[in-house]
Amino acid sequence: MSRTEISRMRPPLVPLATLIGRELRNSDKTEKPSIRYGQAALAKKGEDYFLIKPDCQRIPGNPASSFSVFAIFDGHNGISAAIFAKENLLNHVMSAIPQGISREEWLQALPRALVAGFVKTDIEFQRKGETSGTTVTFVVIDGWTVTVASVGDSRCILDTQGGVVSLLTVDHRLEENAEERERVTKSGGEVGRLNVYGGTEVGPLRCWPGGLCLSRSIGDTDVGEFIVPIPHVKQVKLSNAGGRLIIASDGIWDALSSEMAAKSCRGLPAELAAKLVVKEALRSRGLKDDTTCLVVDIIPPEHSVLPSTPRKKQNVISSFIFGKRSQNSINKLTNKLSSVGVVEELFEEGSAMLSERLGKDFPQKTNSGQFRCAICQVDEPPTDGSEVQSAKCANSGSFYSPTSKPWEGPFLCTSCRTKMDAMEGKRPSQPK
Ligand SMILES: [Zn+2]
Repeated sequence: MSRTEISRMRPPLVPLATLIGRELRNSDKTEKPSIRYGQAALAKKGEDYFLIKPDCQRIPGNPASSFSVFAIFDGHNGISAAIFAKENLLNHVMSAIPQGISREEWLQALPRALVAGFVKTDIEFQRKGETSGTTVTFVVIDGWTVTVASVGDSRCILDTQGGVVSLLTVDHRLEENAEERERVTKSGGEVGRLNVYGGTEVGPLRCWPGGLCLSRSIGDTDVGEFIVPIPHVKQVKLSNAGGRLIIASDGIWDALSSEMAAKSCRGLPAELAAKLVVKEALRSRGLKDDTTCLVVDIIPPEHSVLPSTPRKKQNVISSFIFGKRSQNSINKLTNKLSSVGVVEELFEEGSAMLSERLGKDFPQKTNSGQFRCAICQVDEPPTDGSEVQSAKCANSGSFYSPTSKPWEGPFLCTSCRTKMDAMEGKRPSQPK
């Protein structure tokens, strides 16, 4: 190839105005979308609670570090667990986030901070000695990134307004989740239906002792420890077309499919949409249960309402997938969002094993030479020896069955280690 040929192949010079224009378009995704939300509820037993905090700050006093939290707590056997989780969970999650980290690092730290926060909230509620329990569906929105952590059967769906409707949570119902049934049985619980007079079995599958239909929850002090508070966590990044989240208790989902709920309110503002979803559920099933619905729109900066996007064909665009997904994750991807190019899937993990959820590199040593518990953030002096490795040796001691692996995760204080063993059936724990 001659020199002239090469120089002909060079792209022509691009006018500065065009470059600036491109730069501005590319920065669309770094500019934060706006959030609009609506809420509607109908009470039957009065055990549903919700949390709306649209203006949290990751760094107090810095508006550029803002994020939003939306959550639903569907209580059972009383309301105290739902109220306790509503009042404490966010603080417990935030206290598990390392100080002085960047936005990118905070988004990466969120999944395990959510695990720590859920477990800490459960431990603290149990100490109160009350018997109620609650589902939690907890949604953190920072820019285009949505992180959802959930236990129980309240759901969060994502509608990309004509693109695709997908489920961001997994139902922890014994009736519908074979992997959870197996886990509960392995950890010392019994799964079966209620036996009424005459030996007839009725109702959904429950675990015994306790008789709960859910395999995960916060609270439930009177049920075995195999009903764990470890959430399924999913993190996605929306395209710059934004999207709509519908977060609701089972009063909605027992009446409407994800697709039906999304369709029933598409194109309407969030405030009205939440009311319509509740109305639609009521119309199809009547008021059988507490019914609570939050609709949250993540709207591109230049829009005042959520734009509709054309339905994309599968496999046309494939988007990037970051992070690693556990091979043994209890929850396989329910809807291949990434295959339609609408949303980037950043993280998903549903294992009920703490050792698989906390990672090994959790910050643990404080300035004073003590170790900080990865769950409750309490500082403890090293118990025997000075290294974290000593915890492994102590943990592989007599109370473990010979088949169990030594703990290889970050430092846990004595009470959190006890909790972990109980959840995995390594300690007699019935009832909690
Ligand atoms: Zn602890």
